[in-house]
Amino acid sequence: MNDCLFCKIIKGEIPGSIIYRDDRIVAFNDINPQAPLHALIVPTRHIPTLNALRREDDGLVGEMVRRGAAIAAEKGYEESGYRTVFNTNPGAGQSVFHIHLHLLGGRKFTWPPG
Ligand code: 5GP
Ligand code: ZN
Repeated sequence: MNDCLFCKIIKGEIPGSIIYRDDRIVAFNDINPQAPLHALIVPTRHIPTLNALRREDDGLVGEMVRRGAAIAAEKGYEESGYRTVFNTNPGAGQSVFHIHLHLLGGRKFTWPPG
């Protein structure tokens, strides 16, 4: 998708603070971090929301979640804890329509979220 911000970051057309990349997944730091660690894990393929996922994407989503856990562990938050969030559609706060797993760590998180 040409006008998608995250597709542009993935392709290197817009600078991003990339922390992980393979053929299927890219992770980069959020530009407006809500915690000491705030990374976004995205598929390289454009998928607008979780509603567009198909059964054949199950492995891809699993890789996204496991990559989030690996980054959290690398940053030292494996035991203390971290939060992973997918927002879907505007009512839940989604503002970029290319699915992304938020990975937040390094502070205390409350429940329920706002
Ligand atoms: P959403 O609100 O869709 O769940 O999350 C979108 C996230 O993308 C927000 O946390 C926002 O700060 C982040 N974001 C928006 N524009 C950019 C950008 O240009 N670069 C990076 N790295 N993050 C961005
Ligand atoms: Zn995209």
